[in-house]
Amino acid sequence: MQTRRDFLQKMTGSVLALSALSSFTEKKYEGPVLRVAIMGLGSYGTRVAEAMKSCTKAKLVGVISGTPSKIKAWQTKYGIPENNCYNYENFDRIRDNPDIDAVYVITPNGLHHNQVIRVAQARKHVICEKPMAVNAKEGQEMVDACQSAGVKLLVGYRMHFEPHTLEIIRMRKANEFGKVLFFQGLSGFIIGDPTQWRLNKALSGGGAMMDIGIYSINGSRYMIGEDPIWVTAQETKTNPVKFKDGVDETIQFQLGFPGGATASCLSTYSLNNLDRFFLDGTQGFAELLPATGYGPIAGRTHKGEINQPVTTHQTVQMDEMAGILLEGHQPVVAVDGHEAVKDLKIIDAIYAAVRSGQKVDLHL
Ligand code: NDP
Repeated sequence: MQTRRDFLQKMTGSVLALSALSSFTEKKYEGPVLRVAIMGLGSYGTRVAEAMKSCTKAKLVGVISGTPSKIKAWQTKYGIPENNCYNYENFDRIRDNPDIDAVYVITPNGLHHNQVIRVAQARKHVICEKPMAVNAKEGQEMVDACQSAGVKLLVGYRMHFEPHTLEIIRMRKANEFGKVLFFQGLSGFIIGDPTQWRLNKALSGGGAMMDIGIYSINGSRYMIGEDPIWVTAQETKTNPVKFKDGVDETIQFQLGFPGGATASCLSTYSLNNLDRFFLDGTQGFAELLPATGYGPIAGRTHKGEINQPVTTHQTVQMDEMAGILLEGHQPVVAVDGHEAVKDLKIIDAIYAAVRSGQKVDLHL
């Protein structure tokens, strides 16, 4: 008769054998590692730093911050050496630091333009958060500055690496939805503290559109697989005290695509439960719900539930971006400065359409 001890011994033996096998089969990553400094140690910067602990190809090695106490705390938490710590006055000196390859700019939107150009002039690759700038003109200047400095510019479009999203893009490319004719994007949340930078035009560049509506803009492009050729838009404002001039609360907008598809989208700071993409074609559909939150992302198509791994978006994004910056990998959906300028041109056109009440043509 098998005793409990026999059973446990057998179990232990097989567990040991299994773990020996897996350590034998798991190959340690020995390729190049992207050494990253994060600029702006706020809420999203902290999320990225935590996610980077699980990266294989990217490592957090430096910080740029206006808050000395945060620098100290991050040094302790992430083992960041003194020579890799900067503030907003002296970070141009990063040029002389051979231990940092790239700077990830995670500050308020209105500061990205100046900061990205300074990083480029310091000859470091730049990853910049969305929206990359507050208008297309500034965005193009950032692209040009990076090009003339010979560094690469990427934008934190984390959904471009998300497996459910990529599966829908694969299906669309394989013509599994037939002719795609409609996209709906719903992007919104109720914003709290009225004193935060997101509601200050100088720092945010706008309102919900810059912050959350941009997901529906960018999503309509990667879901449909084309760039829009016209836009119409309508704004509503229920709280002009909280949402001052130039800070949009709610905008509905429509985009027209060259293949005949249209997109109908909602961007708002006044409603929760709005994070849904829906794509419809002559032979099938796809839905992502939620579509762009931190996850888990879930979705279905006319063929059933989308079964894809749940990932930590920022971990995958940073590993993939290391591959792009250091090894010249090409992502399925672009994440470079040109991609971001297209979104900014659409945002400029949406604001122009709101002001004029007219359809605005787009030339991306
Ligand atoms: P936070 O307000 O939480 O953090 C911003 C940080 O920027 C601050 O903590 C501060 O860090 C630094 N900063 C420098 N100058 C200023 C200033 N004048 N006012 C306020 N902060 C300043 O913002 P988030 O982290 O939420 O957003 C930062 C960027 O990341 C934005 O562009 C946003 O759109 C983007 N974002 C992207 C997300 C995504 O999923 N891709 C999600 C959330 C945000 P320090 O004290 O170190 O100087």
